[in-house]
Parts: sequence; structure tokens; C-alpha cells
Amino acid sequence: MSSRIRRRSRSLLCSVTALLLAGCAGERGLEEKVLVIGIDGVRPDVLAEVPTPAIDALISEGAFSGRVITEAQTISGPGWSSMLTGVWPEKHGVTSNDFTGNNYATYPDFLSRLELIDGDFSTFAVVDWAPLGSEASGGPLLSDTIDVKLDFDGDQLGYQEGDNRSVAAAVRFLEHQDPDAAFVYIGYPDVAAHDHGGRSQEYYQSIETADVHVGRLVAALRNRPTYEREDWLILVSTDHGHRDAGGHGGDSPEERTVFFLASGPSVRHGTLPPDVNIVDVAVTALAHLGIAIDPAWHLEGRVSGLEAGN
Ligand SMILES: [Zn+2]
Repeated sequence: MSSRIRRRSRSLLCSVTALLLAGCAGERGLEEKVLVIGIDGVRPDVLAEVPTPAIDALISEGAFSGRVITEAQTISGPGWSSMLTGVWPEKHGVTSNDFTGNNYATYPDFLSRLELIDGDFSTFAVVDWAPLGSEASGGPLLSDTIDVKLDFDGDQLGYQEGDNRSVAAAVRFLEHQDPDAAFVYIGYPDVAAHDHGGRSQEYYQSIETADVHVGRLVAALRNRPTYEREDWLILVSTDHGHRDAGGHGGDSPEERTVFFLASGPSVRHGTLPPDVNIVDVAVTALAHLGIAIDPAWHLEGRVSGLEAGN
């Protein structure tokens, strides 16, 4: 694990943003930071039925839509690529779980884009599905320019154990290091639905467990000694749903319908724009960190949920 913790001054970035947005969120004197939590294969209708106190608390301090219809194929490769790059498959080039031929050089994940913009950003990612973090299947989606990238092998460990290790590592990092932007992937709900069905007890239980993971991650942020001086935007979303029998890749509402959750002091409470979508995750994360979205990047996501962003 390479750890390059860097200090940076964002005064210049902030002043440029202030000109563009007529007000930098940093004017409140808080340091903006982002945590994106991706949970694989979560149906919003099932999410609504499962006791999820941690996610409910985030919703109560934020904005949520469980009626997002993803425009990507309902497969993990295109789903995560769209969410983390901010463009749809036609641009990033990933239309299946074969990541070969991807166009991440032009459309990098949001953490790598941050590093390209300013290498002083401290970025962190932990995943347990191989193509997201490694060269498996033509990956990685998350590039090696990310300061700290941890890769557990869910296929080998089992995704319950993989998720446990990912979240434990993320908790340690988020509590004790100083990331500006982080991505944490939780994989087991997708596996539970494949193995037992999208209406099974195991699937419901896996989403309850994912919520416990979310609670741990939120607690880690709140345990930071500097938390009171920080403005954490927490974004939670998923790549696709599941059929009742388990499985995805098709166009049914159960597969296409996903959710978008934004939470934190900078989030406009209540409803999101009706056309909010998963590509908004990357763009909203960048905007929260004071990045002016350059039209030349041709991003398709928009800023969703932020007070100043809409
Ligand atoms: Zn799957």
C-alpha cells in the first residue's frame, strides 16, 4: 500500500470557483470532501423494504431518488464506468464486463480526473471486484494515479469477506488519513441476488449488511478529529437492479431502476431533479470539491443535489 499523503492549498482553486459560481462553498470555512459509496446490484424497491437505519439517516440529511432509470446496460462494467466517469457507455466504451477497449484515457474516473487536475488532491479507493482496481478483464476502471488504491479479491475471498476487509480498510483510512475524495465499493448484494434471487431473504439480508457497512463509513468520518471543520458530501448509488429470480442485463424496470443518494451539509434537502442519474455521481463529486466542469471534457452527468449546483 503506497501512501502519499499530501498537503495542499485550495485557495487558488477556490477563488476561481468563486468567480464562476458566485460563491465558493468554502466561504463557510469548511473543507469540502467527498465519499462515494457504490453498492452493487441494489433494487430501490427492496432497499425501501429493508431496515437500513444508516442510509435512512443519510436520506434525512440529504436528497434521495429511488426512481432513477439508468441509461447504461444493466451490467456492472458499464454501470460503474458510467457512475465514476460521468459519461455513458458510448463515450467510455465499456458495454459489458469485458473492459478491453475502454476509453478511460479520455474519460477517467473522477478520482483520477482529480489527480490530473491537481496532483495535490488526496484520493483513496477500495474495491473487491477485480476489474475496478486491477488489470483483470481489461481493467482497471480506477487508475493507478489514485494515491491509495486497495484491491481485495472478492472472487477468492467471497464477497462478504471482501466487503468486510474493504470497509475495515476504508474505516481505518478515513478516520486517520486525510483524503479529499474516496470511493468504497460493496459487492455482496449483487452476489446474493444472483445466488438466491432478487426477492430472497439472503438478498434482503445482504442489503441490511451493506447498510451496516455504510454506518461504519459514516461513523469513521464523524470520528475524524477535523470533522467539525469539514464538509463531507456522501454519495451512495448502485449500478443496476435485479430480476425477481436474480440476474440482470436486460431492460426490465427491476433491472433498470437504481437509486441516487446525496447527503451532507452542502446538499439541498428534499427532491432531486427528476432526471438525476448515475453519471451525476462523478460530476457532483467534482463540483463539490470546487472543480469547474470544463465543457471540453464532454461529461454527460450534471451537478445534482448540491445547494449551489443547480
Ligand atoms: Zn451481477
